[in-house]
Amino acid sequence: MIFENITHLYQELKTNNKHSLCVFDLDSTLFNVSPRSEKILHEFAVDRNFPELLKIKIQMEDWGIYEALLRAGYDKVQNEDLHQNLKKYWNEKFFSHEYIHYDTPYLGAIHFVQSLKLSGVGIKYLTGRDVFRMGQGTAEVLKKWGLPCDPAQIHLKPQKEMDDHLFKLEWLQKLAQDHPKSQIYFFENEPVNINLVGDHMPNVRLIYMNTTHSRRDNVRALHTEIFNYTIERD
Ligand SMILES: [Mg+2]
Repeated sequence: MIFENITHLYQELKTNNKHSLCVFDLDSTLFNVSPRSEKILHEFAVDRNFPELLKIKIQMEDWGIYEALLRAGYDKVQNEDLHQNLKKYWNEKFFSHEYIHYDTPYLGAIHFVQSLKLSGVGIKYLTGRDVFRMGQGTAEVLKKWGLPCDPAQIHLKPQKEMDDHLFKLEWLQKLAQDHPKSQIYFFENEPVNINLVGDHMPNVRLIYMNTTHSRRDNVRALHTEIFNYTIERD
């Protein structure tokens, strides 16, 4: 079956706790990264003496820094230098240990993961973040929010140049080989990643966290769509 909503999924996970493995993406799946981008944007505004940019808010649905700039009226043709300079500035800070501390968990996310862990469900994190730039900060942030954070649960790309989708697919294939009796649940916001896993691993349950994504594809694979982690009763 495919779950109607997050509450049904939660109930099944608790029922089949010993044979369930939940794999969570981090950025835009468990954590809203908009505060991270907004902090960087506002630091840029101060550093580069561009006070009008301080008025711009990054919304939860925004992808990267570009969409907020466009919404505020800074199109790319007439503001090419601004776009390029801000993108470079944003790139250097967004993928760093320091700035992921500004992320905030989505509604219900902390309780959802903590509760599953207490029930005996396996918890893993699988992220396109890379070890060198974000490994230490990732562990710190998980710990700060009270999430399970054993190093064996946290999986980042060994090199930043790797494709996120291939890294995740290969990692999940290995996980399935190592745990043939477990049901894997993959929580992810990026349709490209979901579709690839759906195409190659039909037995993985796909949970699409509909927050924001790269706009490169829509979800085609069979999935359950969620918008947050609030459950009706516990
Ligand atoms: Mg993500």
